[in-house]
Amino acid sequence: MRRLEELVRENIYRLKPYSSARSEFKGEASVFVDANENPYDTLYNRYPDPLQTKLKEKLSALKGVSAENIFLGVGSDEAIDLLYRIFCEPRRDNVVAIDPTYGMYGVCADINEVEYRSVRLDEKFDIDVEALFASVDANTKLIWLCSPNNPTGNSLSTDRIKNIIGRFDGIVVLDEAYIDFSAYPSFLSELHNYPNLVILQTFSKAWGSAGVRLGMAFADKQIIGIFNKVKYPYNINILTQRYAVKLLDKAPAVKRRVAEIIRNRGVLEKQLRKYSCIKEIYPSDSNFLLVSTTGAKDIYNYLVEAGIIVRNRHGITLCDECLRITVGTRDEISKISAALAAYDKK
Ligand SMILES: *Cc1c(COP(=O)(O)O)cnc(C)c1O
Repeated sequence: MRRLEELVRENIYRLKPYSSARSEFKGEASVFVDANENPYDTLYNRYPDPLQTKLKEKLSALKGVSAENIFLGVGSDEAIDLLYRIFCEPRRDNVVAIDPTYGMYGVCADINEVEYRSVRLDEKFDIDVEALFASVDANTKLIWLCSPNNPTGNSLSTDRIKNIIGRFDGIVVLDEAYIDFSAYPSFLSELHNYPNLVILQTFSKAWGSAGVRLGMAFADKQIIGIFNKVKYPYNINILTQRYAVKLLDKAPAVKRRVAEIIRNRGVLEKQLRKYSCIKEIYPSDSNFLLVSTTGAKDIYNYLVEAGIIVRNRHGITLCDECLRITVGTRDEISKISAALAAYDKK
């Protein structure tokens, strides 16, 4: 790995961060007149903890990762954007990503004016390692991997991921948004072996909390330190912090729900197999199925008429005539099934 000083943008490396009132004082006190807050209690009259200490302590215990290796952002979206702003000099640096994958990596590259190089997955939706490295050059700062991948649903092979992290001298970002639905373990337990690895996870999927906007990044403490320097001082509000602290106490119930979704994924798959308009169902380690169809646009429109919205992925690399269907409740699966049966008879 190149030294962090070479990888991080010069202005960011030198940056003296804003020092908030709440971060300058640590300890016990009874009178807080340092932050120009309103003194009358509304539950929310005080600024939130800028480093989310309590929440990170709980997450640390749950994930087996030290709090200094955790960054919390307003969704994974914030971490994705910060990675560009920290590492990529606009109009000079580039990033390399698998294709197809999650759209936000490309959108954030455009916003930050950073060249985005796509490398097509192979026919099994796995990484072509040699093609990937053929796109890497001296200005490549980030490699984007997503496993299980969106929209393909499969996990990338562990050996190839390891090979890439070990071989690349920049930062490898591994997005594990769907890891709780996967048969493969997270790379979190390997974090200490790889100073150039950033793992993204989220509260939006398995944790059932897309509405609160809370995402996690796990990395070497030096990288987390730079995230903390660049983020808005009070990025995670008090409502979200309190909610998440309580949610983490319900981890066992959340796990049962995840197990139910995984079972329902099997139910959905079994249903979809019955219909001739569904040509192929791709293997999934996530909470959705990518399926190829006899006509994605036509089926999409038909389902819309039935009040069912799926994601049309036709036009995306390797996804010709494909639909992406999230695993819903048993009742939702029955409705999709009935609509596809009617489509087949049409
Ligand atoms: C859904 C999803 C996320 C979650 O993003 P949030 O901003 O945390 O809601 C992240 N990565 C991938 C690949 C996703 O599909």
